[in-house]
Amino acid sequence: MISLPSKDFLETPIEEFVISSEKVAHVQIGNSAEHALLVLTKTGYSAIPVLDAKYRFHGLINAQRITDAILGMDHIEYEKLGDIRVEEIMQTDLPLIHLNDRFQRALDLVIDQNFLCVVDDDGMFMGILTRRIVLKQLKKQLYQFKR
Ligand code: AMP
Repeated sequence: MISLPSKDFLETPIEEFVISSEKVAHVQIGNSAEHALLVLTKTGYSAIPVLDAKYRFHGLINAQRITDAILGMDHIEYEKLGDIRVEEIMQTDLPLIHLNDRFQRALDLVIDQNFLCVVDDDGMFMGILTRRIVLKQLKKQLYQFKR
């Protein structure tokens, strides 16, 4: 039997579900697009955060943005990869989530985002919350009274 998630569950702070920052692959402001492409390819992740030396969050970088930046008129200009900085091409217009935000907000946001970047009040990067984790938690709630 499926049960509807309780209001209490939807109001759980997301903190306990977050993958903490030290476990998250990232690149730093000042790194080249070439370095970012290496990290993305080696890890197999679709996108990774761009942080500064103090671990403040600045944006996200993905392979599509990198390829787009080196697309010439009739060929891909690979030689440019080393000259492009990640901050020139990263995505910055994305919703962020705070450690004390509720599960309900995460659920709303992961409809359009594969994962969410989690920050504290000072913009420090705390980790990520993936759609996979949100769905797993929701599934646990839905089936908890299954007989
Ligand atoms: P998953 O739900 O594990 O497939 O992760 C979805 C996306 O979240 C990945 O493609 C990455 O963009 C990002 N992601 C998940 N785990 C990590 C991690 N440890 N480091 C960096 N990015 C991650």
